[in-house]
Amino acid sequence: TPAIEVRDLHVTLGKAAILRGVDLTVEAGSWVAVIGPNGAGKSTLLRAIGGLLPTGGAVSLMGTPLERLRRRTRARMVATVAQTPVVPPGMSVFDYVLLGRTPFVSLLGRESAADLAAVTALLDRLDLAGFGDRELDTLSGGERQRVFLARALAQEPSLLLLDEPTSALDIGHQQEVLELVDTLRRDQGLTVLATMHDLSIAGGYADRLVLLADGAVVAAGTAREVLTEEILSRFYKARVKVID
Ligand code: ADP
Ligand code: MG
Ligand code: MG
Repeated sequence: TPAIEVRDLHVTLGKAAILRGVDLTVEAGSWVAVIGPNGAGKSTLLRAIGGLLPTGGAVSLMGTPLERLRRRTRARMVATVAQTPVVPPGMSVFDYVLLGRTPFVSLLGRESAADLAAVTALLDRLDLAGFGDRELDTLSGGERQRVFLARALAQEPSLLLLDEPTSALDIGHQQEVLELVDTLRRDQGLTVLATMHDLSIAGGYADRLVLLADGAVVAAGTAREVLTEEILSRFYKARVKVID
């Protein structure tokens, strides 16, 4: 069973048809990058797959149609990291990550010792030991992105949806975060669907690329198949460099 299966997905926002019949299959354990020019509908596609938008067409996660998944089941199965997550002012890194694990009880202070231990282990895993007491808005871009990932992973999701996970980072930190995502995918069998702005980086990490333009998939396949001069010059206004 594919981890994500999307058939003839339509999304209309206001009066505009934003997604116009998208088909997409993401095999379990793979990393698929959604690329495409600004405004193509990449973020909208992720939000629709995460169950955050009314849609036409069919989305199945781990073989179950989205509308048949209970809210809590879905919330555990899919973790989404938005392009610019909302950072609650004054909240500590530890509490923020804990909320990913226990959204219903931690506000009451009734999280278990196991939950606390799990968050501690996760902070360790993401090189954030010692950051637990810091407030989120005191962190650097790279540290903050690792905290967002930690919170997503605290859900123990099967699917990780990332919206331009490195757009706020310099090149060194971009690679650090993407390497981390890749390691987590291999170690934990996660499936990753990420919108990615930088084509060569997308091609370097993802197993498959899906090129979205004007709300439709116009090319899909390996980096070699999709990142051709011919395809890119057709769908990107600015000239982009092709990798070989
Ligand atoms: P991308 O992530 O590829 O840059 P988006 O999915 O963010 O594209 O947006 C696709 C299109 O949908 C854009 O033209 C955007 O202006 C439009 N759009 C996004 N959200 C809304 C909304 N709430 N209402 C109307 N149009 C929207
Ligand atoms: Mg955009
Ligand atoms: Mg976007």
